[in-house]
Amino acid sequence: MSKTIPYKIYLEESELPKQWYNVRADMKNKPAPLLNPATMQPMTVEELSDVFCTELAKQELDDQTAYIDIPQEILDFYKMYRPAPLVRAYCLEKALGTPAKIYYKFEGNNTSGSHKLNSAIAQAYYAKQQGLKGVTTETGAGQWGTALSMACAYLGLDCQVYMVKCSYEQKPFRREVMRTYGANVTPSPSETTEIGRKILEEFPGTSGSLGCAISEAVEAAQKQEGYRYVLGSVLTQVLLHQSIIGLEAMAACDKYDIKPDIIIGCAGGGSNLGGLISPFMGRKLRGEADYEFIAVEPASCPSLTRGKYVYDFCDTGKVCPLAKMYTLGSGFIPSASHAGGLRYHGMSSVVSQLYDDGLMSARSVEQTSVFAAAQQFARVEGILPAPESSHAIRVAIDEAMKCKETGEEKTILFGLTGTGYFDMMSYQKFNDGVMGDYIPTDDEIEKSLAKLPKVE
Ligand SMILES: *Cc1c(COP(=O)(O)O)cnc(C)c1O
Repeated sequence: MSKTIPYKIYLEESELPKQWYNVRADMKNKPAPLLNPATMQPMTVEELSDVFCTELAKQELDDQTAYIDIPQEILDFYKMYRPAPLVRAYCLEKALGTPAKIYYKFEGNNTSGSHKLNSAIAQAYYAKQQGLKGVTTETGAGQWGTALSMACAYLGLDCQVYMVKCSYEQKPFRREVMRTYGANVTPSPSETTEIGRKILEEFPGTSGSLGCAISEAVEAAQKQEGYRYVLGSVLTQVLLHQSIIGLEAMAACDKYDIKPDIIIGCAGGGSNLGGLISPFMGRKLRGEADYEFIAVEPASCPSLTRGKYVYDFCDTGKVCPLAKMYTLGSGFIPSASHAGGLRYHGMSSVVSQLYDDGLMSARSVEQTSVFAAAQQFARVEGILPAPESSHAIRVAIDEAMKCKETGEEKTILFGLTGTGYFDMMSYQKFNDGVMGDYIPTDDEIEKSLAKLPKVE
């Protein structure tokens, strides 16, 4: 007899993962190393430690250790908002009339409203352990900055956030949440850094970009004694911390004998997707099970589906190490997409390598169809999803509708990364019927890719 599957599966405290899983350990083709932009040689732990906390630099470069213990203090913090539930979307299935079974892993149950807190607490913890005074970072849509301010407040660290200017102006409430947690928030580009002043001189009145804000945050960390820079996505260390999503999801599936056929995640820098799929991918890589993995990205910023797999800069100021990744070019400025968290020009090197090896697929979707899926989901499942998360909802619904045609009873699992309460201006545009879809032309992408760094 199989156990009755609850509507929401919460793991017991004793069943919670105590280690993160590092999928690189099981990858035959390892992600390419980060390169030092000055020497074009692989970055060493020592070099990376100038920018990042030492322990995080070690995690960044470790592609051998499969399981890494989660320190007790982080486990204790996770208990405030984890486990995240694995939810059966019965109402959505019914509304679609599909024979497919749809599950989602919901990461929006904390004040940051997203999965980003999983890595924020880990990065703040290692900074504290190292005896640092504080950390600097950038934030685009604001979820990462919020998550980091929460983690820093908890541990008593100073937190300096460079927030992309248009977002700083459009999302004053996100800014106030960060300030409530004690963070110092600066609109980027700003006059407080050399690179910020340079960008402002070159592009007066610019509303900023993630790439600029990263450069400013790195400079700020390097200029202050006792500070390091932290990043909320893209890096392999972030995927490692986010593996908590997949480990919990897999434990919940195993407990109730649920076997996902398709696993779907939205992809900005690749951290939630990488975290969700990692343990399942591990099984696939070891030949123990098979799954279909789908990354979903916006048609306005299609790094996997239309980018190139090459070495590129991670930031506009070109101060960060070079990473080999699917990229649209570090100068690519996506149109004002409403999925702010998915606007990065590149993709995690782990996700890029898995995709290049044909172990997963990718799709790009247009934002009006994403908001249509968000609305449909909100009306039947009750949760108002983040625009980023709604990319995964779009493809989950598409796959469920295919099952309706074929009569297949597939099990679909997707990552619902967060809530959309701070994105009501975007919802307003959609509700008013004035939201557009912008898809870059081949020419635009070519132009941006023409400026890639030359790496032999
Ligand atoms: C930041 C963010 C994303 C995208 O980032 P990834 O690193 O690709 O996971 C997706 N959803 C939400 C809610 C976010 O805040």
